[in-house]
Amino acid sequence: MDLKSVIRTIPDYPKKGIMFRDITTLLTDARGFRRAVDELVQPLAGQKIDKVAGIEARGFILGGAIAHQLSVGFVPIRKKGKLPYKTIAESYELEYGVDEVEIHVDAVEKGDRILLVDDLIATGGTAGAAIKLLERAGGEVMLCSFVVDLPDLGGADKLRALGKKVTALVEYE
Ligand code: IMP
Repeated sequence: MDLKSVIRTIPDYPKKGIMFRDITTLLTDARGFRRAVDELVQPLAGQKIDKVAGIEARGFILGGAIAHQLSVGFVPIRKKGKLPYKTIAESYELEYGVDEVEIHVDAVEKGDRILLVDDLIATGGTAGAAIKLLERAGGEVMLCSFVVDLPDLGGADKLRALGKKVTALVEYE
């Protein structure tokens, strides 16, 4: 099965000129969802992981399923202001302005080996901030897994240049 066949493209969403890659159709497809979860963890074969961290919001769905599969805990990385307890935050640049991601101060234990998951990597701004946050909290990001990579935007290469292992299941120009 070709994973691209269950990923939908919405032209001009959320604004004109953007081709939005929609993985909700992959999630609806039982075989597609299972296959994606299996492939997202594949590069870790034989390695021990302590936690999965997923980026809001689609990274929660994939990351939750992966954490269950690996029998490890899950850390939600949320947009600013959504977590109820004490947080640490990391900001990152957007095309216009800045955004912030947060985790709870006690979500990561020192030395935790972490798998970071999201649906898609574009410029790598979000994932880069997530890595900084998890590592400031004492964790070590062992692998960054994405369903979709947009290689023209350079995010995956940026993470690799930081010494991170990156895997993506499909690419779109
Ligand atoms: P980046 O920070 O530029 O790498 O953008 C990645 C973030 O934006 C991820 O959290 C994605 O969920 C979201 N994103 C950007 N473009 C798309 C898209 O085409 N489909 C789904 N999510 C996207």
